[in-house]
Amino acid sequence: MTTPDCLIIGGGVIGLSLAYDLAQHGLRVRIVDRQEAGREASWAGAGILPATGPDEAHHPLDQLRVLSYQLHPHWAASLFEATGIDNGYRQCGGIYLARSHGEAAALGGLIGLMREERIAIDRLTPTMLIDLEPALRPLAESGYLRAAYRLPTESQLRNPDHLQALLKATRDLGVEFSLGTHIASFEIEQGQVRAALSEKNERLPAQSFCLTAGAWTRQLLEPLALPNGILPVKGQMVMFRCQRPPLQHILNEGPRYVVPRDDGRVLVGSTEEEVGFQKQTTPDTLQELAEFGRQLVDPLHAAVIEKSWAGLRPGSFDGLPYLGQAPNLDNVYVAAGHFRNGLFLSPATAVVMGRLIRGENTQIDLSPFYPGRG
Ligand SMILES: Cc1cc2nc3c(=O)[nH]c(=O)nc-3n(C[C@H](O)[C@H](O)[C@H](O)COP(=O)(O)OP(=O)(O)OC[C@H]3O[C@@H](n4cnc5c(N)ncnc54)[C@H](O)[C@@H]3O)c2cc1C
Repeated sequence: MTTPDCLIIGGGVIGLSLAYDLAQHGLRVRIVDRQEAGREASWAGAGILPATGPDEAHHPLDQLRVLSYQLHPHWAASLFEATGIDNGYRQCGGIYLARSHGEAAALGGLIGLMREERIAIDRLTPTMLIDLEPALRPLAESGYLRAAYRLPTESQLRNPDHLQALLKATRDLGVEFSLGTHIASFEIEQGQVRAALSEKNERLPAQSFCLTAGAWTRQLLEPLALPNGILPVKGQMVMFRCQRPPLQHILNEGPRYVVPRDDGRVLVGSTEEEVGFQKQTTPDTLQELAEFGRQLVDPLHAAVIEKSWAGLRPGSFDGLPYLGQAPNLDNVYVAAGHFRNGLFLSPATAVVMGRLIRGENTQIDLSPFYPGRG
C-alpha cells in the first residue's frame, strides 16, 4: 500500500468502525494493533445498546447516543449483506429491577430522567413480569421485588461477532492491517506527525493518524505531550450456558446485568474496578456475579458456567469520551475513553470522526469531547 490517508492505532470496535466508515468513503486506511484486532474491551463487553429517545437531544453526548441507536440496525444489516455475518443485533428489550427500597428510589430517579428523554417505558407489576419472563417467577413472588420497568427498545449485539463482521468488511474494502505492532512513539515535524514508530523502530507513515487505543490511549498520548484523563476500569464477566435461552430481555439492576443470547448463553456482569492494567478475574467476584444471576433467573441454578473473563474499559475522568483533533497537531485525531458505552457509541463515533478526518462538518458539536481538556 502507498502511504495511507489514515493510520488508525488500535483495532478495537472504535478503530474498526472508523476504518469501516473511512474506507466506505474511499480513503486508504491501515489499522495497527499490538496484537490481534478486537481482543480487548470490545471483545470482553456485554453488547448492551441502551434505549434512547427520539431525535431531539440537545447535549452532544445525547446526540451521539441517538445517532448510534439509529445507526446500529443499519450497520447490522449492511455488515450482514457485506460479510454474511450476523452480528446478533436484536431489539430484545430491557427490564430494570430493584430489590431494596434504596435501589427502588435510585431506579425511580433514573426512570424519571429517561421519561424526560421520552424513552418508551412500561411499569410492571409482578404478574406482568411473570407473563413477560416466566423464569423470573420466583423473584416476582419472593416479596423482595420493589420495582420493575420494561424498556422495549433496549437492544443488544453480540460483540465478538460484530468484531468479526467489521474485520471482514474492512478487509474486503481494502483496509490493511499491521498486527503485532506496538506503537511506542511518533516522528513529529512542523506541527504534524509524519509517522508512528513501533517498539521495534518500524516506521509507519500516513497522511493522518487516529488514536483509538482504548484504555491504553493515555500511554500513546504521552509521547505527543498531551495530558488526558483516560484510565482503565476493569469489568469482570461470567457466562452461563443453558439448553435454551431462559429469558428474552436484558435484566438490569444497579450496575449489574444479565444478557441472554439466542443460543442459550447468558452473560452476567459486571464490576467497576480501578486496579490499573491488570485483567485477572477474582474468584470471590465471579462467585458474587454468578449468585446475582441465579437470584434473578431461576434456571441459572441448573446451568453450567462455561467461561469467565475480565476486560479494561477506557474510563475518562469526566465521563465523556475524547473525540476530536489533538491540540497543536494538525493531522492527529483521538477517539477513545468511551467507558461503559463504547460498543453502543461506536457507529456514531465512526461517522462523526470520519467526517472530521475528511474535513466535513461533523454535524454534532464535538467541543465537549475536546482531546486537549486534560
Ligand atoms: C466487562 C465489560 C462490559 C462491557 N459492556 C458494554 C456494553 O454492554 N455496551 C457497551 O456499549 N460497552 C460495553 N463495554 C465497554 C466497551 O467494551 C468499550 O467502551 C469499548 O470496547 C472500547 O473500545 P476501544 O476500541 O476504544 O478499545 P479496545 O477494544 O480496548 O481496543 C483498543 C485496542 O488498541 C490496541 N492498542 C493499545 N495500545 C496500543 C499500542 N500502543 N499500539 C498498538 N495497538 C494498541 C489494543 O491491543 C486493542 O486492540 C464493556 C466493557 C467491559 C470490559
